[in-house]
Formats: sequence, structure tokens, C-alpha cells
Amino acid sequence: MISSPMQEILDAKTHRNEHTKCLIWEGEFDRKRQPIIEYMGTSVQVIKILYTLARGSIPAGADIVQKCENQRCVEIEHLELGQAATSELGFAANEEELALVKKLYFDDGMRQDKIAEQLGVSASKVSRMITYIRRRDSL
Ligand SMILES: [Zn+2]
Repeated sequence: MISSPMQEILDAKTHRNEHTKCLIWEGEFDRKRQPIIEYMGTSVQVIKILYTLARGSIPAGADIVQKCENQRCVEIEHLELGQAATSELGFAANEEELALVKKLYFDDGMRQDKIAEQLGVSASKVSRMITYIRRRDSL
């Protein structure tokens, strides 16, 4: 259960997308475009608060990501633990997945839509992974 002060904030500052079931944040965002609120004089990520309230503390080295790939979404059912290194992707991606995308795209020259098909993920997810790999590995 989410504590009631937080529920009041959610009721006032979100709306539901009935198609995707995302709970869309209408409040403030940080420069990574993640939903934030002011709490005791500092900005905190809404998804971290919600995850902690619902599921418990966040392990060191991990971060919370939206598995629906919508950075404005604060729906608890759409939040999951991801690696801190890949949280800037906006979704969870493990090293094996990243290594596979890197091989298929940079070594084999496979098209992004074909990679998406093979991995069973969206093309936009593959595109963001490639951007991330390119920057991280200076490709
Ligand atoms: Zn969502």
C-alpha cells in the first residue's frame, strides 16, 4: 500500500492513460526528464519513492526504471529494478542484452528492426540501446 500523503500527490498530479495503463506525471521533471517532487528541501525522484513505499529499499548499484519505456510514467506496476549503468536508457537492460545488440548491429550489420524482432523488444528500445552503446564504448 502507498501511504496516503503520496496517494494525495498522485491523485493531484497524474492522469491515467487508459490505452497503456500508464500513470502519467503532470508535476515537475529533473534534467533527465524523470518525475520529481520537492521533499524536505531537496528534489527526489517520484519513481524511487513509490518503489520504496511499495516494494522496499532499492539495492546499492541499482536504479528504478519504467519497463513501459515511458519516462513520465509513475505506475508502480510499470516500475522495476534496473542496473544504475543503464538507467539512463529509461528501461532495464542487462549486459548480455547489450552485448548481443552490440554484436548484431556493429559486427554483423543487422538492421535495427531485425534486431528488435530477434530480441522480441520494440524498435525504439533497440535504437536507444545502440545510442547508449555508441556513447559508452565510443563507437
Ligand atoms: Zn507506464
